[in-house]
Amino acid sequence: MTKPKILIPIPIQDSGNRRYTLGKNYVLSVIEAGGVPILLPTSVDSGALRETYLDVDGILLTGGDDVDPAFFDEEKHPTTDGIDIERDEVEMQLTRWAVEDDKPLFGICRGIQVMNVALGGTLIQDIPSQVTTQLTHAGHYEGARRDEVLHNVCCDPNTKLANVVGYGEIGVNSFHHQAVKRVADDLVVTARSSDDIIEAFEMPNKRLILGVQWHPEEMSFGRPDMMRLFKTLVDASAR
Ligand code: MN
Repeated sequence: MTKPKILIPIPIQDSGNRRYTLGKNYVLSVIEAGGVPILLPTSVDSGALRETYLDVDGILLTGGDDVDPAFFDEEKHPTTDGIDIERDEVEMQLTRWAVEDDKPLFGICRGIQVMNVALGGTLIQDIPSQVTTQLTHAGHYEGARRDEVLHNVCCDPNTKLANVVGYGEIGVNSFHHQAVKRVADDLVVTARSSDDIIEAFEMPNKRLILGVQWHPEEMSFGRPDMMRLFKTLVDASAR
């Protein structure tokens, strides 16, 4: 059987704005899970995006900078950073196509956020200044290790997420200062942290439309439950 092809958009997101960049562990996790990563620069035109989308079996949306709040009709918060409209538009288009066509889609960190905005939801633009919490979500502000458990999330039973990682509490890393606020219609929240921040959602009755707020790719080689998230994407994408 041919291996499922998983599209991963690559944006320009280095500080000098000179290079397309993508975390290595997204690519390695897809390969380890049995898929073939297809890396596509976000600068392609809509025709090339559509052709590539039609040619792949599944989609992975990765972490990165903040979604333009204009897409959910809010003014930009002072901390909202790194806006890349080209990337926003490509990833929102892929989300809408995937939902329409029931093509498997897995979003990580920024990925869950851009999926929510694409489908009509909104975001908390800055957890540290807008939410009262004892937990550390923005671990990158505090020099956390990429695979360090910073807080637990509680996964609801009888969900696709719980089928993959188990239900109840699991420990996760956390490198986000934004989060899902109003969840788009048709998406169901499947995990929250103890301060009520949304940490995962999915769309029932689809092969796989799933997002998580943490970074499983940074834990997947030491945590079988995190690797199973990538296996779930690849297996759902098999023709
Ligand atoms: Mn978190």
